[in-house]
Amino acid sequence: MFKRKDPVCGMKEESGKGFENSGHWFCSASCLKEYENKIKN
Ligand SMILES: [Zn+2]
Repeated sequence: MFKRKDPVCGMKEESGKGFENSGHWFCSASCLKEYENKIKN
């Protein structure tokens, strides 16, 4: 099974944990926020 990776901190996807947004997986809300800030700026 293909596992995704948090593009911010590099953590591997853990099923049942974290957040998903536009095809990416994030370990935490702070990583998700950081990613959103990155693509906005
Ligand atoms: Zn993370």
